[in-house]
Amino acid sequence: MVVIPAKCVHCSTEFNILIEDLKPGLVTKTYECNFCWKYNVFEYKLRSDEVIKSYKNRDWLDKKYNSELLTLQQIADICGCTPMTIRDWMIRHDLEPRKPGHRHSN
Ligand SMILES: [Zn+2]
Repeated sequence: MVVIPAKCVHCSTEFNILIEDLKPGLVTKTYECNFCWKYNVFEYKLRSDEVIKSYKNRDWLDKKYNSELLTLQQIADICGCTPMTIRDWMIRHDLEPRKPGHRHSN
């Protein structure tokens, strides 16, 4: 969860916007001011593009998957996308996804 400090556009009362689940891209949030009871509409765009698109970097993906042994789901959580997207990029990077439950024995 993320807390973003903001000000009411009508009465300048300061308050915090709480964001439960972070998703990349443009997000619109409506907040009713506790002081003047007017509505504030906030639009913001997450700036963590670097993290979100890390999977496009072969070395990063290789490190997370083959060195840190994260699962597709765990990497997808970091990047804010689906495991299918990660899998897709692994294939594009010529990295081989592990089979579920597969462990290297040697
Ligand atoms: Zn207000």
